[in-house]
Amino acid sequence: MQSNRDRIKEMIEHISTFNDADPGEGISRFSYSENDAKARKYLIDICEDIGLKVRVDAVGNVFARLVGTDESLPVVMSGSHIDSVKNGGRFDGLVGSIGALEAVRVMVEEGYQPKNSIDIVFFAEEEGSNFQVPVMGSKLLTGKLTVDDIKEIKNEAGITAYDMIKNAGYDPDNMPNDVIAPGTVKNMIELHIEQSVRLDKEGHTIGIISGIAGLNWITITLEGVQNHAGATPMFLRQDPMVAASKIIAEIDGIAKAINDTIVATVGYIEVTPNIPNAIPNGVKFVVDVRDIQQETIQQCVDEIKAVTEKYAKENDVKFTVEKTASSEAIKIQDYIKEVMVEQAEKLDLDYVLMPSGAVHDSNYMAEVTDVAMIFVPSVDGRSHVNEEYTDWDDIKAGVDLLLNTLVAISQ
Ligand SMILES: [Zn+2]
Repeated sequence: MQSNRDRIKEMIEHISTFNDADPGEGISRFSYSENDAKARKYLIDICEDIGLKVRVDAVGNVFARLVGTDESLPVVMSGSHIDSVKNGGRFDGLVGSIGALEAVRVMVEEGYQPKNSIDIVFFAEEEGSNFQVPVMGSKLLTGKLTVDDIKEIKNEAGITAYDMIKNAGYDPDNMPNDVIAPGTVKNMIELHIEQSVRLDKEGHTIGIISGIAGLNWITITLEGVQNHAGATPMFLRQDPMVAASKIIAEIDGIAKAINDTIVATVGYIEVTPNIPNAIPNGVKFVVDVRDIQQETIQQCVDEIKAVTEKYAKENDVKFTVEKTASSEAIKIQDYIKEVMVEQAEKLDLDYVLMPSGAVHDSNYMAEVTDVAMIFVPSVDGRSHVNEEYTDWDDIKAGVDLLLNTLVAISQ
């Protein structure tokens, strides 16, 4: 089955008119705003027109169901979010939301009736634009956030998430009844723009996600002895900067030696007192380590600890190594990857298997079901800006793969 490129374009362009940003300044559409309500109505009307059963949960996540022949089976789910960051782009979230809608629309037109029901989902409040709490809709849906939690979360004006959701016409107190029970969803498949440069640089149309990266933040502190930069001979120094620079210089090699998917970055460093004419007394930096396998993240962290110890001793400085943030890597099951690869080959698409480093609704849906993701290229890797762009042919290719994958796993 094939999706309709012009219809996808028309729907994405129409949704872009529900926008609070000034002309030329991209898209600002926050969840629970008037324009968000208009965008939802537009989508819900289409879903109802093609005969889907629409349900909106207690916090505004929308589900539109193509009823399967065996309603006792777990549903197959696909969709994404329809909110944006402030002055964001047209494609983030919308490609996966409109993509799922288009996929199901084609099934209806072709007379395909799945065995498992298929739910299109439009998640609420993914970007965290209101409350600086990303993926709030899917966190509530999977029980990671509770009604009590959203009574504590406030926006800049001091309005709680609970009140904002209520004022938008929903009934957040009912959310416990809408939390997804394990076993009720067979798979969640999300199409999304890549929001980075790989597909565009390498010239691929499709990224089939091989795993969703987990993260560790390792904070390393080194403590030496502050002294005069001119009067202290080199052999008498306890210089934490020398130790830090040697550790940091090794990190690149440690990551490269482990595998092709792991990434390790030092993007934050603090030096005290940070003046040019004194040996510093302290250096603190954070190593951000990500990979799609938990074991290799741990291996990388262990190796970084070992070089920290080595160079701290060599330079006679004290050190601590602390894990200050972490999230688990998410495995994409082989059977679902195999279905996607098979369908991509049937459709003759130029695809590559690649890890995902970012957080999407699917990261949380992974708590309750086997998830999968499909990426399409972001031109120059740009996202969350007005310049965000994905070629319409690439979007169509992504929707085609989504459509045929959904068919393959729902029959
Ligand atoms: Zn997104």
